[in-house]
Amino acid sequence: MLSGQVITSMRFDVITLFPDLVEEALRHGITGRAIKENLLTLKTWNPRDFTDSKTGRIDDKPYGGGPGMVMESEPLIKAIQKAKELSGSCHVVYMSPQGRSFNQKRAEEFLQHEKIILLSGRYEGIDERVIESEVDEICSVGDFVVSGGEIPALLVIDAVCRLEEGVLGDPDSSKQDSFSDGLLEFPQYTRPDSNEFGDVPDVLLGGNHSEIAKWRLKESLRRTLKLRPDLLKSRELTNQEKDLISEIKSEENS
Ligand code: SAH
Repeated sequence: MLSGQVITSMRFDVITLFPDLVEEALRHGITGRAIKENLLTLKTWNPRDFTDSKTGRIDDKPYGGGPGMVMESEPLIKAIQKAKELSGSCHVVYMSPQGRSFNQKRAEEFLQHEKIILLSGRYEGIDERVIESEVDEICSVGDFVVSGGEIPALLVIDAVCRLEEGVLGDPDSSKQDSFSDGLLEFPQYTRPDSNEFGDVPDVLLGGNHSEIAKWRLKESLRRTLKLRPDLLKSRELTNQEKDLISEIKSEENS
């Protein structure tokens, strides 16, 4: 992996039967702004444009029988090859529940590719020959099955895009996001400092930056211990973090 390389523009080519769904979803918010500012290039390819069938049919019954339909290999392979030809992209990712789990670390690794083709399946999935001949990597967004690869592809594009230099207004935003340092993000508050729903912790109102940083680290640890203790098992703790965890444990026991 080319870690540390600053990526200033990402290109995603999405192979999908529902190009509008993908384009419309990314037109909003952070990703929409990234597209306008040319930090994110998005191109969709519909396999129906690559079939010889007069009706645009791209699916057929599975050999061996069984329920549902399977996306045919030829239109998908032609679409991928056309996308490769135009974008010069070489990393092809098939979105599938059978793939390697996507997470923040994978998002950082994807960012290093700069140009990625995301293949979204539908129906029962795609003809295995597409995977054998064109796919470099299979990526899952979780141990559950959704009806199509578009929403999984959107999750990947959004997560990768916000890591790119210049996409978030404040470059530190993504650094303090949950998972980026192996912890969940600390609690956040905004004005007013007090209302019928509660008070903002005093330390955040005081302006003492080192006290605020310490409080945030402690609350990140508290939250991670409570909600995602598994994250702490795979993370090396500093001495300060170990002390804070002892404090949290004695507070919770008292
Ligand atoms: N029969 C397949 C699932 C097909 S779901 C199987 O058991 O593996 C239809 C399409 O949705 C898939 O081709 C894939 O592109 C997408 N998809 C479904 N769940 C997904 C997940 N968890 N992660 C990524 N893509 C998924």
